[in-house]
Amino acid sequence: MSGDGQVLVAGAGGFIGGHLVSRLLTEGQVVRAVDVKPQDEWFQVHDEAENLILDLRSADACDRAVAGTADVYNLAADMGGMGFIESNKALCMLSVLINTHLLMSARNLGVERYFYASSACVYPDYRQRETDNPGLKEGDAYPAMPEDGYGWEKLFSERLCRHFREDFGLTTRVFRYHNVYGENGTWTGGREKAPAAICRKVAEAVIGETGRISIWGDGRQSRSFMYIDDCVEGTRRLMDSDVAEPLNLGSDELVTIDELVTIVEGIAGVKLDRDYDLSAPQGVRGRNSDNELITERLGWAPAISLRDGLERTYRWVYEQVAANAPSRVG
Ligand code: NAD
Repeated sequence: MSGDGQVLVAGAGGFIGGHLVSRLLTEGQVVRAVDVKPQDEWFQVHDEAENLILDLRSADACDRAVAGTADVYNLAADMGGMGFIESNKALCMLSVLINTHLLMSARNLGVERYFYASSACVYPDYRQRETDNPGLKEGDAYPAMPEDGYGWEKLFSERLCRHFREDFGLTTRVFRYHNVYGENGTWTGGREKAPAAICRKVAEAVIGETGRISIWGDGRQSRSFMYIDDCVEGTRRLMDSDVAEPLNLGSDELVTIDELVTIVEGIAGVKLDRDYDLSAPQGVRGRNSDNELITERLGWAPAISLRDGLERTYRWVYEQVAANAPSRVG
């Protein structure tokens, strides 16, 4: 059972990793936090954790990171929102080195439980062509035709976890995260995802008094968005469960990008003129999480409303934009 012995969080300087380290420390667990970035670029640094800078694409670094740990959470990946993954397919696929070497270290060094963060990008395009997506079921991942680059790496790594479990007896757990958002994540620079990007653009419009917002696509593409607290709670529940097959971890509150903008405008107390950029990357047309299996297997599913999560996220993004205002807005 997780809870005894040290826990490794790989990708701890990132968005979800930083929140997970915080949660594990609150539980009284002993945490080793590892990321490739210099520490001043980590979203959160927890002094109570053992913080290491390592490039986990290398086998030696993975041995160093995994040595002495009972549980491993692999949240390390070279990734970002649609703007990043559509134009960096090879870089996304190279994250396969991280999962491969971490799994080998986990097997060789006697790790008890291994968690892998997969993605809704494993689902085939042919099931995501309509905006009123009824929800992707776990079985929909096959026949496979995932997002090129990033999605193929995730699907391959999922299967690698499965075969390490079946052939080598390593206990593995896999979640397919659907669009996670919240504070202390990427909000600018090209890797940010839709909720952070929309919060940033609204905050920029408010601070710069421009009255306008630019939206990628026609605004009618649909998604569901999961607040970070639900993501961390679900990840902990799955790790301690006996569920071996990949499960969705996502919200099933489906909205269009236009609706997302309207919610953020409401939080900010503004109404903006919308410019639609039809040449920008948009990803699939409609994506939603089907939560029947997670509810059945874990007796739990994400429940924090988009409005509540965005309230907290917008406040945090606004502070970042305001702090950078002289160079960012005019
Ligand atoms: P993030 O980019 O904020 O964090 C990933 C971290 O991994 C970064 O800090 C990065 O520096 C680190 N990393 C990259 N290469 C590394 C290497 N070679 N060695 C060590 N660390 C390395 O991303 P996130 O949003 O926190 O996502 C965490 C995981 O969840 C990723 O595997 C991602 O693919 C998956 N996921 C996230 C979402 C989402 O909406 N955020 C959705 C689906 C899946």
